[in-house]
Amino acid sequence: MLVVKKFGGTSVADKERIFNVARRCVEEYKKGNGVVVVLSAMGKMTDVLIDQAKDINPNPPKRAMDMLLVTGEQTSVALMEMAMDVLGVPAISLTAFQVAMHTTSVYSNARLKRIDTERIRHELEQKKIVIVTGFQGVNKYDDYTTLGRGGSDTTAVALAAALHADKCEIYTDVDGVYTADPRIVPQARKLNEISYDEMLDLATLGAGVLHNRSVEMAKKYGVELVVRSSLNTNEGTVVKEVTKVERMLVSGVAADRNATRISLIGLEDRPGVAFKLFDIIAKANINVDMILQSIGRDNKKDISFTVDENTADAALKVIEENEKSLRYEKVSVKKNVAKISVVGAGMMSNPGVAAKMFECLFNAGINIRMISTSEIRVTVLVDENDCDRAVQSVHDGFGLED
Ligand code: ASP
Ligand code: MG
Repeated sequence: MLVVKKFGGTSVADKERIFNVARRCVEEYKKGNGVVVVLSAMGKMTDVLIDQAKDINPNPPKRAMDMLLVTGEQTSVALMEMAMDVLGVPAISLTAFQVAMHTTSVYSNARLKRIDTERIRHELEQKKIVIVTGFQGVNKYDDYTTLGRGGSDTTAVALAAALHADKCEIYTDVDGVYTADPRIVPQARKLNEISYDEMLDLATLGAGVLHNRSVEMAKKYGVELVVRSSLNTNEGTVVKEVTKVERMLVSGVAADRNATRISLIGLEDRPGVAFKLFDIIAKANINVDMILQSIGRDNKKDISFTVDENTADAALKVIEENEKSLRYEKVSVKKNVAKISVVGAGMMSNPGVAAKMFECLFNAGINIRMISTSEIRVTVLVDENDCDRAVQSVHDGFGLED
């Protein structure tokens, strides 16, 4: 059997944790299984590197930024090879370059295109544990790229798919996927299973356990994932196509504090205005999430939308640069907002989920600023101060507690 195991930053944060991971991998290896290990940078290493970069240059060139960030993962895999050597097991650490993990050319947000598997297969045949850097790739210029924050999960799933692994385990510092963040809702319950679609929404909307693109890729290639803790041997959560809990009305509540709302007031109420606005934003490579357009009055209308707070300044910049052609009266930016979402495959066939969510928020005295929905999700934008109370009240309202 071939197993891909991915360990996040907290799981390799120090010497003791590194040996803990090494031992877990060796245990698997001693069962006679092939083991490919994908690692993140140690602890908060990536954040530290970003701070260092910004201290030198507030607006670092993206290529140089990726050149820097890949050292975090390179450090982890090298130390892991050393730890496994201490445990007397043959292991080899490889960067994305050595494997050859090909990505698109966009620095800081590249997508994996193709993974060469010869080197890894060769090392596995030599009965070595193969330790691969997460989060990074190589583009057509032979430069390092990175896959976006949290991207190591995607590396693991891509490797599992490319190697046709029998198992893909994502080890983290929590026991699995919960109905809500247990730090906000202590009564949150661990899910035994969740479908790809639900997990994708939860991941995108701030559940924090998996990189959303890893879930997208797992679904596409049918890689069954297990999310579990590196600190104990509890079962974890299985992410797969069809689940027993599929008929559950709501599987979880997610919160995303990194949203920023941008509003353009007094746009002209005529065809093409929304197109022009979002075309400008898209060309700046900025993802837009919720969108709200007011009903026109006096040939004017307002459009509000949310973006990730990291891209808010860039969005505002392109809007202001295009002030002449967009012709708005005013633009405003609100950073202290949070997105709260309920996700559940059962919503498709059950009316009233949105109403129930709004009732919970009303009972908690929380004002809703924007709303958006999909087949299996309802999302609202609230003030960031209300975020935790909103999650708790919705979690209670849907009876998700243990
Ligand atoms: N080290 C990278 C980050 O912090 C990638 C990862 O951990 O998945 O975003
Ligand atoms: Mg992560």
